[in-house]
Amino acid sequence: MEIIFATKNKGKMKEVRLLFEDTDIVPISMEEAGIDIEVVEDGETFEENAIKKAVEICKVSGKIVLSDDSGLEIDFLNKGPGVHSARFLGVDTPYSQKNQIILEKLEGVPKEKRGARFVSVIAAAFPDGRVFTTKAAMEGIINDKAIGENGFGYDPIFYYEGFKMTNAQMSLEQKNTISHRGKALKLMKGRLLGELKI
Ligand code: IMP
Repeated sequence: MEIIFATKNKGKMKEVRLLFEDTDIVPISMEEAGIDIEVVEDGETFEENAIKKAVEICKVSGKIVLSDDSGLEIDFLNKGPGVHSARFLGVDTPYSQKNQIILEKLEGVPKEKRGARFVSVIAAAFPDGRVFTTKAAMEGIINDKAIGENGFGYDPIFYYEGFKMTNAQMSLEQKNTISHRGKALKLMKGRLLGELKI
């Protein structure tokens, strides 16, 4: 059975395909489904954005649709940039600059106040109107400098105690085992298999 995973990001698509490999569910991309619509992520919560995207694409396609919304919450910045992570300081500002500005805002802030987490919400929308979400987080701290070449976005400044490195120093496989999105996707897999009784 084909379901759409609403992303244009090839890395996310690969991660989702791998996760569902041992099931009868085959995730396909929007491109493969022949859908080219842009859903504006203007909600105030991760849930609102993920649901909006899944529902709109479900209406257009008539298929079950999964979508995700994620971001970085930094305690010292009142949980910002949070749901505004992609738009923080402007969508076209390079992450090297966004990360530098965050490091400056946290300059001199002690380790115990540098708590942060990546959050991921996955939404599922069914053509019969069923909608549900799963959510997971990855806890860490904001490092005092940007380190590492892997990953994307805020990965170079996010330090994960468990591996004693930043997310940008991890391999993709390593990151997928503990990431917010990896965990939320696994929860969604369980929920979907239950709903579909397969
Ligand atoms: P979206 O869910 O693809 O819209 O992502 C929201 C934004 O959150 C991204 O553009 C990144 O800025 C940030 N983000 C989400 N997940 C990660 C991650 O795993 N590493 C680094 N940044 C992330």
